[in-house]
Amino acid sequence: MSNAYPRKLQLHIDGEWIDGGNRAVHEVVNPATGQPISDLPKATTADLDRALDAANRAFPLWRDTPVGERAAILHKAADLMRERAPEIGRLMTAEQGKPLAQAIGEVTASASHFDIMAEEAKRCYGRVLVRPAGQNSFVKYQPVGPVAAFSPWNFPVFTPVRKLAPAIAAGCSIILKPAEETPASPVEMIRCLLDAGLPSGVVQVVFGDPAEVSSHLIASPVIRKISFTGSVPVGKHLMKLAAEGMKRTTMELGGHAPVLVFDDCDLEKTLDLVVTGKFRNAGQVCVSPTRFYVQSGIYDRFEKAFTERAAKVAVGDGFADGIDMGPLANPRRPSAVGDMINDARGKGAEVMLGGNRQDKDGFFFDPTVLSHVPLDADIMNDEPFGPVAVMRPFDTLDEAIDQANRLPLGLAAYAFTESLRTANMVGDKIEAGMVAINNLTVSPGDAPFGGVKESGHGSEDGPDGLKAYMVTKAIHQA
Ligand code: NAD
Repeated sequence: MSNAYPRKLQLHIDGEWIDGGNRAVHEVVNPATGQPISDLPKATTADLDRALDAANRAFPLWRDTPVGERAAILHKAADLMRERAPEIGRLMTAEQGKPLAQAIGEVTASASHFDIMAEEAKRCYGRVLVRPAGQNSFVKYQPVGPVAAFSPWNFPVFTPVRKLAPAIAAGCSIILKPAEETPASPVEMIRCLLDAGLPSGVVQVVFGDPAEVSSHLIASPVIRKISFTGSVPVGKHLMKLAAEGMKRTTMELGGHAPVLVFDDCDLEKTLDLVVTGKFRNAGQVCVSPTRFYVQSGIYDRFEKAFTERAAKVAVGDGFADGIDMGPLANPRRPSAVGDMINDARGKGAEVMLGGNRQDKDGFFFDPTVLSHVPLDADIMNDEPFGPVAVMRPFDTLDEAIDQANRLPLGLAAYAFTESLRTANMVGDKIEAGMVAINNLTVSPGDAPFGGVKESGHGSEDGPDGLKAYMVTKAIHQA
């Protein structure tokens, strides 16, 4: 199978694939080489208006399509994605850099989200309230309307699927703007939906200047809901734009996941899980395990064993055999991560492993372990979004929980312990949208996924994720 990447990419609006023509283009770069691989057309204002018009016309038709038909299209699209996962995965590795097996795994995991939402939509029951004979009050859930969705470059297929699946299942039309850095794999995912029979206008895909596209779409009276995955500052900006039209929002923003490792954990099992988890997708994961708080009794052993295992992480081109970690996804990341490491080093952190951009083409960075990192280091406060584990010792359960909760973020948190009491206390007291104990699984698809505090609001996935694309209506009949 070839690694061919399309030289020209397209927009999809109102059932039509649109070539670049004389539109401005964004140059797509392979992060493993730093070389351009394709031109992506940027939508003009007229393109965006056309997309809005198409979404507006498609919405009432799709809303009134029986839920079984909507579900059947999602199931068919899921089957097509599983069939095409090797090809879509190759596009993703070329544009994003992650190892091919991880890219293919992302596509198949995304397919299962289409299946889950297809079934959720059939069971989105309303309520009938208690009333005297002859009277009725109903509570119904109805699709919110046309959606504008913005997804990032770290999971180019999974993050848009989390928005498309519930929107389409609920009966909404949607305009998706995936990240310009990673366009081809989400476009091929959309092709699965279209080949499965999704009617024209239900989904449009646009690219462009992110700020221009989002401000234009969010300001339109057509759009009733905004869903964004990305950084906290951009999320706050989009919420301000959404407030102008009192539009509903789902915001899945950054995290800085604490990992509490207690003396009584199963150390080998914990290390196996967390080292693999830390370097997955080169740490460019909003739920990446990052702030390791390790109980004093095992701190030295944990730090040493973690570092030994991290040193064996094979870094290279995601298409090569036996690679665990590819390059960072774009040229912004090595400098951002490098600056944070230098700041920590200057403030007294010990560099146990790595710490540098690799001296070769592309955006490769060392797997990095920092120990005894002071709390005032930038990296203890801002998410590194890279292949860096930071460690500090703690003594008591209360201290560990205080440390976990000390940031204004709260997306995922992890703990490793064989004590049921400790597990219960951690589960209840940590301020996070998801807490995983003795495992790292926080995206099973049927459970809510989302943050608290500045990590955002609104849940994706499962029944909560579907309801995020619906409004609640009460109907009273006397
Ligand atoms: P960024 O803040 O410039 O962009 C983050 C994402 O938002 C990108 O996908 C970008 O295309 C999009 N974006 C930016 N401005 C936008 C706008 N005005 N309207 C709509 N979309 C807009 O940062 P970046 O350099 O791409 O990524 C760096 C940081 O972003 C990371 O450190 C991390 O905190 C965060 N991030 C989070 C996730 C996540 O899964 N929550 C994913 C990617 C990036």
